[in-house]
Amino acid sequence: MTVYLVGAGPGDPGLLTVRGAEVLARADVVVYDRLSVASLLDLAPPHAERISVGKTPRGPSTSQDDINALLVEKGKAGLEVVRLKGGDPFVFARGGEEAQALADAGVPFEVVPGVTSAVAVPAYAGVPVTHRGLSTSFTVVTGHEDPWAATETDWEAVARVGGTIVVLMGVATRGAIAKRLVAGGLDPATPATAVRWGTRPDQATVRTTLADLGAVDIEAPATIVIGAVAGLDLRWFEDRPLLGRRVVVTRAREQASERVTRLRQLGAESIALPAITIA
Ligand code: SAH
Repeated sequence: MTVYLVGAGPGDPGLLTVRGAEVLARADVVVYDRLSVASLLDLAPPHAERISVGKTPRGPSTSQDDINALLVEKGKAGLEVVRLKGGDPFVFARGGEEAQALADAGVPFEVVPGVTSAVAVPAYAGVPVTHRGLSTSFTVVTGHEDPWAATETDWEAVARVGGTIVVLMGVATRGAIAKRLVAGGLDPATPATAVRWGTRPDQATVRTTLADLGAVDIEAPATIVIGAVAGLDLRWFEDRPLLGRRVVVTRAREQASERVTRLRQLGAESIALPAITIA
């Protein structure tokens, strides 16, 4: 009876850790968010109860208190519970609050760190967050103040740090953030790269500058990288020939996996829909 706070990575199912796959494979209950990838839920046993706790921007979602209570309840019932969270559970994911609630209730928990979008999403867009000669640090900041910060972020100070700035949840506030970074001393010509749905088959990258960041068309969820490294374009993922395509695989389930793997390597999203069974 343990509750595992598991990082699911930013979207590419291959970015789940081996440890994450291990605990999912023996879960009785999986509690997941909107951004979770369906194929990861398939790693749980068929009998496992799958509970969505929403988190749609401005849409219906379960309150954090209710999520905490649910984890405590399922944990106390002696079940193996996986709380699947996008990216890393302790990076802007309220995993700390869930761990605190479990600790307070005396429910054993473990944390399985995940690959955070702050690093992996830029990587899939060909942007290293540090690079010799260009950047010796990276600062990960939320663009969405509430409920993360008791005090407002000192963006002018962030500008003065001088390294790479990675903004999560910053699509709506990107124009205001850019202005304050310029006020803090950054050159308006500083490269800025925004990546939507990074590591997924629908990844899309917009390359701009701090001056134009507020005006260019970007939709959430996106990771925004600001700094000299954002001008690098070591592209590889978006060059995959089938990126953005959806392919239905009609082979028998037993025969489909090789095809599915190959399609994924080529960038496609595959949908298994067996048209035959082998008996
Ligand atoms: N715990 C997560 C972050 C949660 S905050 C992590 O470690 O990655 C949610 C924000 O993360 C989104 O608003 C967006 O800024 C970023 N994000 C998460 N997944 C993303 C993806 N696939 N592509 C781009 N940005 C993503």
